[in-house]
Amino acid sequence: MTATTRTNWAGNVSYGASGLLSPTSVDEVRRVVVATPRLTALGSKHSFNRIADTDGAQLTLAGLPPVLDVDSDRQVVRVAAGMTHAQVAAGLEARGWALANLASLPHISTAGAVATGTHGSGVRNPSLAQAVVGLEVVRADGSLAWVDASTPDGALDAHRVALGALGVVTAVELAIEPSFQVATTVFLDLPWDAVTDHFDAVVSDAYSVSLFTSFDDRGARQVWVKHRVDEPSPTVDLVALGARAATGPVHPGENDPAGVTEQGGVPGPWSERLPHFRSAFTPSTGAEIQSEYLLPAAHAVSALQALRPLQDLLAPILIAAEVRTVAADTAWLAPSSERQSVGIHFTFRREPEAVEAAVRRIEDVLAPFDPRPHWGKVSVASTERLHSAYPRLGDFAALARDLDPAGRFRNAFLARILS
Ligand SMILES: Cc1cc2nc3c(=O)[nH]c(=O)nc-3n(C[C@H](O)[C@H](O)[C@H](O)COP(=O)(O)OP(=O)(O)OC[C@H]3O[C@@H](n4cnc5c(N)ncnc54)[C@H](O)[C@@H]3O)c2cc1C
Repeated sequence: MTATTRTNWAGNVSYGASGLLSPTSVDEVRRVVVATPRLTALGSKHSFNRIADTDGAQLTLAGLPPVLDVDSDRQVVRVAAGMTHAQVAAGLEARGWALANLASLPHISTAGAVATGTHGSGVRNPSLAQAVVGLEVVRADGSLAWVDASTPDGALDAHRVALGALGVVTAVELAIEPSFQVATTVFLDLPWDAVTDHFDAVVSDAYSVSLFTSFDDRGARQVWVKHRVDEPSPTVDLVALGARAATGPVHPGENDPAGVTEQGGVPGPWSERLPHFRSAFTPSTGAEIQSEYLLPAAHAVSALQALRPLQDLLAPILIAAEVRTVAADTAWLAPSSERQSVGIHFTFRREPEAVEAAVRRIEDVLAPFDPRPHWGKVSVASTERLHSAYPRLGDFAALARDLDPAGRFRNAFLARILS
């Protein structure tokens, strides 16, 4: 076990964990779990809050061998849970297969992404957790369980987004489909009137669409249209609505565009177009803090209009806000659970106090729109508010108590929300 001062990827959280356990096999994970009174699985450290921290030990799966077994008859892939999306996507693409969608960055671990309901964009694309067909999990008593659609009591939907509370996930089976090509075209400065009058048409005009804004008079200063080339071409003329076509690559924040995946309408494999950022570069900005809220899609325009008056408050700390759509999930705790959703995301400068004040204001403004905070990002929502936003949170808490009666996987983050 190593014990050094460690932080999350963004550097806004110093972990309080006593050390980092790094088993090299599933059997060793089982032994370590039994021998450690309190531990939390750690993915690639890309969450912005204390969800992956603990007063016990953290456990990484980075030392387990990579596994990528495609079952083409069932159209599923079994992967080692600690593998990153970059590893999984490259391995699948090399074999002619694809995941339906990816997050903006390929650097995150598969288990960590699934555990928080991480999503990409697209009116027909649910979160990555929805692609889970089955998962292998080490329970608090060291036993090894397999959970899939045949497990009673809707267990698969409970386990998809499990916040690290139900055990250490060691392998995941994901639904796959034949590889496909995507072309990303970026438009600049879509005026607010066009955003609000044509929101549904714009976001459903391609496989995956993202709008970036600072809520100022530029409107959507970037619109990323990711067109799946085996589908009909987009029909909404964003230039006729007042936007300009970008003439070269653009970064959604302030970094060098060399770090973004190829734009300019050049078709390429899903694995190199669906993420915004290339795996060999720092994604997004680096020294940053993120917050995000998923709301019923029907509230998208009203929520954006309600946020616009915050533009001056946000200006000193906001690097970019991104608006995406997410299809309804069946996972109990997915932010898009059982509802077609819009995600309103904020990338802030790494100024924790100013960010907390801004997040408090944002959450007040969004409160009428039934927001669900992203589990891996910064939120000030009370436990009461989370239980009202996530109707299955009480059921999940009961299941966590049942599977982990001594609270081996319980950290302060979970203790607060599962009370
Ligand atoms: C630059 C950047 C861009 C991002 N873009 C997006 C985006 O496009 N869409 C989006 O939805 N989110 C996005 N996120 C958020 C990110 O996807 C989530 O925070 C995700 O959970 C990070 O995965 P991780 O592997 O780093 O997990 P960690 O942060 O290490 O852990 C998160 C949770 O997963 C649990 N966990 C990890 N491994 C296991 C395991 N083996 N078994 C059980 N539980 C486990 C942990 O215990 C913890 O509860 C972004 C984050 C960053 C930094």
